[in-house]
Amino acid sequence: MFSTAFLDLPPLQCASGTVTLPGSKSISNRVLLLSALCQGTTVVHDLLDSDDTRVMLVALRQLGCEVDVAGTTATVTGLGGRAWPAEAIEFFMGNAGTAMRPLTAALAVQGGDFTLKGVPRMHERPIGDLVDALRELGCNIDYLGNAGFPPLRVRQPELQLDKPIPVRGDVSSQFLTALLMALPLAATDRAITIEVIGELISKPYIAITLNLLARYGIAVERQGWERFVIPAGSRYQSPGTIHVEADASSASYFIALGAIAAGDPSKGGQGKGIRIQGVGADSIQGDIRFMDAAAQMGAKITSGPNWLEIQRGAWPLKGITLDCNHIPDAAMTLAVMALYADGPTTLCNIASWRVKETDRIVAMATESRKLGATVEEGPDWITIHPLPEGKWQRASIHTYDDHRVAMCFSLAVFNADQVPVRIEDPQCVAKTFPDYFEALFSVAHTATQNIPVICIDGPTASGKGTLASRVAAALGYHYLDSGALYRVTAHAALQASLTLEAADEAAIAELARSLPVHFEGEQVLLGNVDVTDAIRSEQGGMNASKVSVLPAVREALVELQHSFQRLPGLLADGRDMGTVIFPNAPLKVFLTASAAERAERRHKQLILKGFSANIDALRADLEARDARDMSRSVAPLQPAQDALQLDNSTLTIEASVEQVMVWWQSRQVFG
Ligand code: C5P
Repeated sequence: MFSTAFLDLPPLQCASGTVTLPGSKSISNRVLLLSALCQGTTVVHDLLDSDDTRVMLVALRQLGCEVDVAGTTATVTGLGGRAWPAEAIEFFMGNAGTAMRPLTAALAVQGGDFTLKGVPRMHERPIGDLVDALRELGCNIDYLGNAGFPPLRVRQPELQLDKPIPVRGDVSSQFLTALLMALPLAATDRAITIEVIGELISKPYIAITLNLLARYGIAVERQGWERFVIPAGSRYQSPGTIHVEADASSASYFIALGAIAAGDPSKGGQGKGIRIQGVGADSIQGDIRFMDAAAQMGAKITSGPNWLEIQRGAWPLKGITLDCNHIPDAAMTLAVMALYADGPTTLCNIASWRVKETDRIVAMATESRKLGATVEEGPDWITIHPLPEGKWQRASIHTYDDHRVAMCFSLAVFNADQVPVRIEDPQCVAKTFPDYFEALFSVAHTATQNIPVICIDGPTASGKGTLASRVAAALGYHYLDSGALYRVTAHAALQASLTLEAADEAAIAELARSLPVHFEGEQVLLGNVDVTDAIRSEQGGMNASKVSVLPAVREALVELQHSFQRLPGLLADGRDMGTVIFPNAPLKVFLTASAAERAERRHKQLILKGFSANIDALRADLEARDARDMSRSVAPLQPAQDALQLDNSTLTIEASVEQVMVWWQSRQVFG
């Protein structure tokens, strides 16, 4: 997951390969609640691990429900037939509508002393229609802030179940879902009828609810989309085991990707677009119908049990006008596809966008305009005009703490002008798809020169490693510690009983060419052996310096170093990153510090690690190493011509990081 302040996406060119999507948020949270309400133990497979499901899990545990989570499998022992807690409980619902609404209803019907709160945005999301319906049936609910909105206080109800319970259906279908899941708790001795007032929106989500209720032993009688009868004698029963389908709304980004991006020609026969694993055309999720809309815009889609394959068909895509009431969430993805169309696209009947994580009509319009698009909007519709070549602008996309805004706009990187796109607060995708960007990068490709590299070269103990890895962390970029490659090479050579001299140059180069080296966080593995401590010693540095003067060894490590240049970008530290390995890097920093300062830092480091050390000897070693690095015939240590010099003798690490970030931002200006 990217937890950086922003993520800069380089322009991408094509995409191909397979993605396995995380479980559906809507199904995961419904299944968790139903498993908690039923009698018996349920093993839930392929559960989504996200902010919203975590909110639900915490709440269920607060209620005394036993939940064990191992990877994507949760084992839930239901509360059915057991006493609910009598003490007061405060629940924190974050911004998770799929937890807030159904839990409110279940708690209100069951009764107790409960408070439900959320983040400020949650306190702006309407819940009045649900509360009205619950009050109608005798639930005891108070608003703790503004009437009609969370936070709420729930007490003991006096249920009156003899008349039909009215609920509005035209604001959020989650209100009806909430009632449908809560009322079986009260329908032990009589049937309960719910009557929908107004046109029911997002019917497919109700279909998911009914489908899952049936799995838990509740056969709701549906009369059109106006009346729902929960039969007398209803009692939740665990299905034992249940599998969560992959999220069809999440699939929309990869369906769109397949429609927008050309297949990867370099992959030969594999350049066949995108395969999505975990959800197919027969999904119970309404958002799967996004595939029809995408096909209408030009995508070529095939499907089988639990999979979809998408290829680019019509190009440019075709602008469409569509009533999106049936796919409210996935429809946002159409808005970004519209930028690549041959004419305007109008999405109508999307009033529900206004009460989601953010006002999504405003968000999509505002951010599309930043990219250069012309957009018109109305109370419940939006029209997006295509963005022709030459008109795309570098934009910093504000994401409004809305996962879908972030995922949608990531697809703008296939623009004809090859401009990068900045996504602010990328970790908001954690709401439903924590590894979204990783999944995108795993199937998307671009020309190597589009992947930015920041080089930080400099002498031993100048602090390059710390600086480079901090900047990498701040940007969400990969990190190459090239010195470690020379250190590992020397280590492997000694293990193979080679000398580190020119006599063994060819043999050491051979070893270096197929070095089985892996980095796992701070750890360096050679094959399966952790060599971190062995190579990080002073001797390890000296040995590295010896093999690094051998031209054949340097040549042998070039390809390995280039392989670190992967999406979304790279921080490379060493001696010749800017001069030899990545000569076209858009930012090169040459980091120095006085020999005295460097010797002192190295001394501190060694003492901290429990080694004994002598400052004068260290300084002599450093200077010897610098002299050898600077005087060798190939790739001598020297600043690249276009490198910016940074003497950090008197700077804190934070100040050095800040300086490099300022330099980087000045080269990556987003409007
Ligand atoms: O940076 P570090 O101290 O780990 O590097 C160990 C040695 O590897 C350096 O002293 C230098 O001789 C060599 N090296 C190099 N080129 C690089 C990185 C390191 O020659 N790009």
